[in-house]
Amino acid sequence: MGMTLARLAEIVQQTAQVEKHPERVEVVISTELPYMTCGQKPCTGVRCVGMGFDWEANQFRITPEEKVMCLKDNVPQKVLEWEGRYHCPKCEYMLSKTKNKDIRYCSRCGTGVRWDA
Ligand SMILES: [Zn+2]
Repeated sequence: MGMTLARLAEIVQQTAQVEKHPERVEVVISTELPYMTCGQKPCTGVRCVGMGFDWEANQFRITPEEKVMCLKDNVPQKVLEWEGRYHCPKCEYMLSKTKNKDIRYCSRCGTGVRWDA
């Protein structure tokens, strides 16, 4: 089991006591990007928190503002080409005007892409 609700509550309580202005501290979820970045690590806000139900019963769920995708399930799909431009196979966002095998993910939706014939 990962973190428990009891441990999370303990950390939140201790941190809120130490911070001078906890009402000004934004809660975010750290995320990753498929390329290097400098400065602040990427993150997304929290849309809501609360206990799950049905299949998610006995889980305290933290729901991010933006979709967070599990990369291990992100099997690269073949890039689409039309009118001499290359597009994401999922959202059709234009990836490049030329073949560029360095692009491995769609910068709009995060889908993994491959450039083979
Ligand atoms: Zn896309």
